Amino acid sequence: MDISKEFRERGRVDILLRQIRQEATEKYIFMEVCGGHTTAIHSYGIPGLLPGSINLISGPGCPVCVTSESFLDHAIALSAMPGILVATFGDLLRVPGGGTSLEKEKAAGASIIVVYSINEALDLAAKNKDKMVVFLAIGFETTAPGTAAGVLDAGKRGLANFFILSAHKIMPPAMRAVVEGGTNVNGFICPGHVSAITGSGIYGFLPDDFGIGCVISGFEPVDILQSVLMLIRQVNRKDPGVEVQYTRAVRPEGNPKAMNIMKQVFKVSDQWWRGFGTIPGSGLQLKPEYEKSDAGKVFPAPPQRQPVESLCMCGSILRGTHTPADCPLFGTGCTPADPAGACMVSAEGACHAFHKYTMSL
Ligand code: SF4
Repeated sequence: MDISKEFRERGRVDILLRQIRQEATEKYIFMEVCGGHTTAIHSYGIPGLLPGSINLISGPGCPVCVTSESFLDHAIALSAMPGILVATFGDLLRVPGGGTSLEKEKAAGASIIVVYSINEALDLAAKNKDKMVVFLAIGFETTAPGTAAGVLDAGKRGLANFFILSAHKIMPPAMRAVVEGGTNVNGFICPGHVSAITGSGIYGFLPDDFGIGCVISGFEPVDILQSVLMLIRQVNRKDPGVEVQYTRAVRPEGNPKAMNIMKQVFKVSDQWWRGFGTIPGSGLQLKPEYEKSDAGKVFPAPPQRQPVESLCMCGSILRGTHTPADCPLFGTGCTPADPAGACMVSAEGACHAFHKYTMSL
C-alpha cells in the first residue's frame, strides 16, 4: 500500500488551504532547512497556493550547496595524486570552485568515480588493494550514521586502503546561525529525515532561546500544508514549541542505534558552511581512534587559494536573506544545464528547484 497517497489527496489539500486562509491573519516567514522540502515545496507549487501573507524561504538544508570550495579543492588535489581513487556521490561533481570542478577534472583524466553508497566505495577499496580509495562524505545527521558504519566496516574487512574526507555537518548550529544572523523567521519547517535520526529534542533551543516555533514535517503536499498550519497556529497563539507533523516517521527519541554509531565514530568539530563561514560545533570529524581512515589527516589539504570573485548569491540564499530571483545570473548566466553556483547544481538546491518548477509555470 502506498501510504504517501493519502498525503497527496486533493480533498485534504483543499481543506487545509481553506483553514490556512482563514487563520493566516498576519504576515509569516517560514524557513525550510531540508533540500527534500525545498524540492517538494516547489514541485507541488505550494508557494502559489498559499495566501500572499505567507512567505516560504529556503535555508541551509541542501548538503551539496553548503559544502565549501576548500573541501572540493582538497578532493580535486587528491584525485590528481598517484595511487588515489576519489569516490563521490554524483551531485558533487558539477559544483563549481576555483575555475574547475570534479566533473571537469574527471573528464581530464583524474581518478574520480561516482558511487551511490559508501558500500560501493568499500567494495572499490576491496577490489583495488593497490589503490587508496577516498570517499567524499557529505550530508547531515541523515547520512553521517551510514558513513560511521562504513568506517567500522572498513576496519572489520581489513581495508586499510579506505579513507573518508568528511564535510559532514549537523543541523541545529546552522539554524541558530540563521536566527542570530538576523534573518527574520517566524518558524522553521524542520527536516523530516534528519529528525528521524536525531529525534525532536534537538530543536528545543528555538522556542526556548529565541521564541521561534518549529514543526518537523513530511514531504507530501498534505504534510507541508499541515506543517504550515501548525506554525501559523503557534505564531497566532504566541506559543512557540517543537511539534512533530511527520509522526509516521519521527519519534521524539529518534533512532538511538544510528545516533550511537555516529557518536562512536565522530566527534563534533567546527565546520565551514557556504553563506555562513565557520559555525562552531557544526561539523563531524573522525575521532582520534579512527584517524587512520581520515583523509583530511593522512593527506593534508592544499594551500588555501583566494576565493574567485563571483556574482553568485548562493550564500545569501542559504541564509534566507535573498531568493533565487534576486540573483542577476538566475536563468541567464546560471541554469541547471550550465550552473554558476552550488545552489543551481544540486536537485535539492533552492535555485535549481525554483528554476525547474517556477520557470516552467
Ligand atoms: S542562480 Fe546561480 S549564480 Fe545565482 S545564486 Fe543561484 S546558484 Fe548562484
